[in-house]
Amino acid sequence: MGVGIRNLGNTCFIAATVQCIVRIPIFMNFLNGHKNECKTGKFCCICMMQRTAVSLFYSTEPIVPKEIVGNISLIGEHMQYGKQEDAHDFLLCLLNEMQNQLVLGLKVDQFIERTSAISKIFNGFLRSQIICQHCRTSSNNYEAFFNISLEAGSADSVHGALRHFCAAEDMGNERWYSCDTCKSKQRATKHFTIHQMPNVLILQLKRYGLSNTDGYKISKHVTFEEHLDISSYVSSDGDASRPSQTKYRLHGIVVHQGYSLGSGHYYAYAVDPRVLSHKNGTEFNQFNQYSKRWLYANDSSVSVTDWENVKKAEAYLLFYAKVNTVNSHKIATSPTSTVTKPVSLISTPAPMHATDEEQSFSGFGFSMSMKKVAGINKHTDGTFYPII
Ligand SMILES: [Zn+2]
Ligand SMILES: [Zn+2]
Repeated sequence: MGVGIRNLGNTCFIAATVQCIVRIPIFMNFLNGHKNECKTGKFCCICMMQRTAVSLFYSTEPIVPKEIVGNISLIGEHMQYGKQEDAHDFLLCLLNEMQNQLVLGLKVDQFIERTSAISKIFNGFLRSQIICQHCRTSSNNYEAFFNISLEAGSADSVHGALRHFCAAEDMGNERWYSCDTCKSKQRATKHFTIHQMPNVLILQLKRYGLSNTDGYKISKHVTFEEHLDISSYVSSDGDASRPSQTKYRLHGIVVHQGYSLGSGHYYAYAVDPRVLSHKNGTEFNQFNQYSKRWLYANDSSVSVTDWENVKKAEAYLLFYAKVNTVNSHKIATSPTSTVTKPVSLISTPAPMHATDEEQSFSGFGFSMSMKKVAGINKHTDGTFYPII
């Protein structure tokens, strides 16, 4: 099930984040492919994560996160060794740094960048739509995201917070919008929808704010589900056309305990992707993306827990992975596979609307043909490939 990560002094934000992210099967798969691909002579954030994941799953003692801590200012330039950082900030820096690694030295525009493996795993696109209240003409803008930040104070559940996030914002009687059709300033509404769904949907429940004197925290339980369907929050002309693609399963949670951002303690709950099996009278570890075994990871200690405990958590970050309902019957658990090297980039931009072929790649990313997806190992035999 993997081991804990020792606290080197205010490093629990690293431990909690890493314990979640390395257990996401599609990301494990990507890390495994990277080790043969990396050509950089300098610090590589992806290699660092790959080594961390391997030692986390193979060590018998808690691992020491020296490499991450020692390179913290390369991961996020404002981060300092010994300082308690925000796990959400650390996660975004980590994803950005891994993304930068894949496009290092390449002169490509932002759109091409979004076809890298990290983007394919973690990026979704938000659509913000403004509707003129006079002529009803709409205009759309699209923006890539690594996570969606929801107001913990606005709802008692993740669904409620998502509804709040996607609700139309009425700007009252103010004529603030220059409408191209009306050729004048008009009243307008603005609302967000998820236009292209990421393979890994990371939700932040924003619990920190600033009062006149100090930072404060919204400490309340926001309910969340093990299985999340986001079909109510996707654009009607976007991914909603494929309802089977809106289903996600929870793989990890980062919890913050304490009263403010600069203090307190982080720990995590994560699904153990490895299960013990018996073969020929001996026990061995096998990866199983359907594993339901939840782990409680708190610095050096990792122990088995259950959903009844997990669901009570005061979640700060939630890691959901897309479930592939279409081809799930083809997914085998045997760790045998034909794997080709990942490609860092493809030469054509990713389509805003995924094709059927991409649909088959979605979910845990292990199961089927991935010919159109850059940076992900191509699997053609219906099996998945573990990190080992
Ligand atoms: Zn590397
Ligand atoms: Zn108008």
